[in-house]
Amino acid sequence: MRILLVEDDEMIGQGLQKALKSHAVNWVTDTFAAEHTLNLEAYDLILLDLGLPKRSGLEYLVQLRAKGMTIPVLIITARDSVEDRVKGLDCGADDYLLKPFAMEELEARIRVLLRRKHDRNNPLISYGDATLNPASYTLSYQGITERLSVKAFNIMQTLLENPGVIYSRSQLEEKIYGWNEEVESNAVEVHIHTIRRKFGAAIILNVRGVGYTFPKEKASK
Ligand code: CA
Repeated sequence: MRILLVEDDEMIGQGLQKALKSHAVNWVTDTFAAEHTLNLEAYDLILLDLGLPKRSGLEYLVQLRAKGMTIPVLIITARDSVEDRVKGLDCGADDYLLKPFAMEELEARIRVLLRRKHDRNNPLISYGDATLNPASYTLSYQGITERLSVKAFNIMQTLLENPGVIYSRSQLEEKIYGWNEEVESNAVEVHIHTIRRKFGAAIILNVRGVGYTFPKEKASK
């Protein structure tokens, strides 16, 4: 899942990016950069610090919701007064976590928010014979159901949501890795290989020299 982290503390930012490596985490240090980034790319969740330079996290959150954006927002902050917490939730945050927190707890809260988002939007991602379940990270295809790694799941999600569109290796890398994450040179191939081993080679079409696609169904009759 793609997470936008808005955090001005270098140590916390780096630490979170490293710790959340099963997700694609892109990290910005102020809310204007967050706004800009959100205009360019789609994210599944925002992790938002409140005490930020230029404009506070709360002000940004208010604007975000005023624009009708429903993306889940999890506030991470050192402010611990009940008043601040209530204010954050009133301004449209989905949840609240106080620093310092245990990574396990953050992971758990993220899972809950992402599950809620998917339940609300569309519980299953389906095309043709393939169905992805974001709640369990499973893929069902022609009678086989298997759990996928987060990265493999994200690759399948990208392909399934746009059947027939050919994605180059670097486009898929962009979808599944954060900005500063080191990408092993053949990571995408490895994930695709794993998916094919479980479901058969035909599940992902390799267009030689161009990229990968989930085949679009031919119109029947
Ligand atoms: Ca801060």
